[in-house]
Amino acid sequence: MTKITEYFKNSGGKTLFSIEIIPPVKGQHLGELMGHIEPLMEFKPPFIEVTYHREEFIEKEVNGELKRIPIRKRPGTLGICAALMQKFKVEAVPHVICGGFTQEETEDFLIDLHYLGIENVLALRGDQEKGEDRFIPKLGGHAYANELVEQICRMNKGQLLYEETESFPTNFCVGVAAYPEKHFEAVSLETDLQYLKQKVDAGADYVVTQMFFDNQKYFDFVKACRAIGINVPIIPGIKPLATVKQLEVLPAIFHLEIPNDLSKAVLAATNSAGIKQAGIEWAIQQGKELIQAGVPALHFYTMSKSDSVRSIASALF
Ligand code: FAD
Repeated sequence: MTKITEYFKNSGGKTLFSIEIIPPVKGQHLGELMGHIEPLMEFKPPFIEVTYHREEFIEKEVNGELKRIPIRKRPGTLGICAALMQKFKVEAVPHVICGGFTQEETEDFLIDLHYLGIENVLALRGDQEKGEDRFIPKLGGHAYANELVEQICRMNKGQLLYEETESFPTNFCVGVAAYPEKHFEAVSLETDLQYLKQKVDAGADYVVTQMFFDNQKYFDFVKACRAIGINVPIIPGIKPLATVKQLEVLPAIFHLEIPNDLSKAVLAATNSAGIKQAGIEWAIQQGKELIQAGVPALHFYTMSKSDSVRSIASALF
């Protein structure tokens, strides 16, 4: 297995292409997802990230009794990673989240990854449970991603939770998330950056950013990171806009701004193909500038659809 950071080191300064996919809704066939990934393989992504989705709780009457039942709408992160590695011979990077996990469950999950030969992970806190107004860790779980990074890095030194003697060390390369437009809970970008530094100081090897549509936000963010001693690779996350609805939905969910010129281009389009094209053209311009700036990789949020990303990658790689 190759560490993600090795790919960056050995790229000869060339910007790499990478993607994030989400597992299908429970009950759907994996073939459709694989069919979306296949056309992107010609751009040789060295790694594919696979999101992890915490369980949600629903109330259901069972035998006359109202029960709170955990439902995971998109299970299968680990299985998809194994399938990707087998089918496409790429590094699969599962997202590992704190939400819904005790430290013991996290340890067991990481041991499973280790046995499967998966040695790249993206360590995240995860969002609050649906219906909650803030993130509450599971009893005995991590409250913040830096604690998860610490646990993974302890395992890399052969230290398991309750073992007195050293165990066989894992060899995880750890990525973490960052937000050029600030994480929505953070009081300021400065505190958010300090917490990002805490994750990197705990052992994170690289950073992947939330999507952004204004490159200047990314460039300013990287500058601010370097100024406080965050020196690991910072991979920009790109999402091609594809619908008018996203002009409202993306800022609401991801707490980011959409530049006026992009909104205008999307709203000027007369049909869905035109809207998609406006999103593609914007992402191509973003990508050209980022590649020129020498970013290690362009990381595309595909939402498990390949058509727009394929058009963008064809223009850039
Ligand atoms: P943290 O780094 O823990 O930060 C959370 C907040 O707490 C921030 O406001 C930060 O400033 C603050 N903070 C951090 N550390 C501390 C501390 N020690 N003390 C006090 N405050 C602190 N979610 C999923 O559920 N599954 C996924 O697969 C997934 N993939 C993602 C991939 C990327 C690239 C990104 C950018 C996000 C992803 N998310 C995913 C969403 C992510 O889980 C949420 O944005 C979550 O709210 C924050 O996660 P984090 O790891 O950045 O948290």
